Amino acid sequence: MSSPMLDMECRVCGERQVELFLDLGAQPHCNRLIPPALAQVAEPKFPLRAGFCRACTLVQIDHTIPKESMFRDYPYVSGTTRTLVEHFRDSAARLVRRYGLGPDDLVVDIGSNDGTWLKQYRPFGLRTLGVEPAGNVAALATEAGVETLNRFFNAETADVILAGPGRARLVTAAGVFFHLEELHSVVEGVARLLTPDGTFCVQAIYLGGMVENTAFDQIYHEHLCYYTLRSLEELFGRHGLAVHDVGLVPVHGGSLEVHVGFPGAHPVSDAVLAMRAEEERRGYGRIETYRAFAENVQALGRDLRALLERLRAEGRRVHAYGAPAKGATLLNAFGIGPDLVECAVERNPLKFDTLIPGARIPIVDEAATPRPDAYLMLAWNFLDEFLARERAYLEGGGQFIVPVPRLRVIGAADLAPTDTAR
Ligand SMILES: [Zn+2]
Repeated sequence: MSSPMLDMECRVCGERQVELFLDLGAQPHCNRLIPPALAQVAEPKFPLRAGFCRACTLVQIDHTIPKESMFRDYPYVSGTTRTLVEHFRDSAARLVRRYGLGPDDLVVDIGSNDGTWLKQYRPFGLRTLGVEPAGNVAALATEAGVETLNRFFNAETADVILAGPGRARLVTAAGVFFHLEELHSVVEGVARLLTPDGTFCVQAIYLGGMVENTAFDQIYHEHLCYYTLRSLEELFGRHGLAVHDVGLVPVHGGSLEVHVGFPGAHPVSDAVLAMRAEEERRGYGRIETYRAFAENVQALGRDLRALLERLRAEGRRVHAYGAPAKGATLLNAFGIGPDLVECAVERNPLKFDTLIPGARIPIVDEAATPRPDAYLMLAWNFLDEFLARERAYLEGGGQFIVPVPRLRVIGAADLAPTDTAR
């Protein structure tokens, strides 16, 4: 059996061998929340389709919304999430130790957002420079004292940095590496910028984790590519760089962290060999794996809709808990609207009184909204934080509907004994 080929050149290898395996329909740009004034106006929708390259194994979407329209102002500010701040603090300390970085060394962060990661290098006295295309968050970083270039990172930007602060012993990119439209120019820029013994540390959502957890809601227009170790090695190899270490980090529901440098500059760790073998064993280089993933997505959609329809028939009220970008993918892929989920509660005032794109579910102030019978947990990657925060709600009979990694309903009985004993 073969699926249709997407009309595109692979974003890594350039071959026209990208086979469609998951079609999530026409979807709006998921980070463009709809303000009340535009509630009656239909927003533009774009195809959201994922394909697998038979030549280099990269998983990618075919439709590119131009980066200038996507990232001019970006509503996601990393410093607002406690889990992420802790994650960046640990990562910074680990990288400084591992590579023996000192006060003369420069660290460059690509897609530096509000400077949350770079701030974590302050105790070590390193020189830092952020590169952030979204003007509003770049300004936040500058105000917080984190030197930031407000532009896209690419080969040209690397030359600007070389002419100023000079070469970097560490270049980092967290959570941006799947956004990059100019992928090859970015990697070329990193290769120019690194010292001969330098390291590029990339954190990206791991395709393996998405497959194992049916986390298809990580697929949205901002994310052009979905990586395995193998597909990243294909990419870096084209620019004279090689992976020397790899690991999984517990953020965004499982991310891949790879360390890349010039071949021979660092010994290749056993973890690299082990992960290559594990990916081979799990079939991440074969289309059949992704067809099975797509079938799991369809089954999840049927089960989740059936559950929400049953709750509605019983007269029970369901709200979404949070309105993250990934939530829009899930709601729109499964045709879930305000008839099944009345509203989405949020703590970020910037989102109040807007509508979730496509699904048109109103986003409201959590503090001013009576509790429903159940919450649909769209930001499932922060589930542990939410379970701790909402223990009283669950003990009072409330429920969490968690769609990923498998559909389940969590109530007071499911709280760990140490949680309920207090
Ligand atoms: Zn390819």
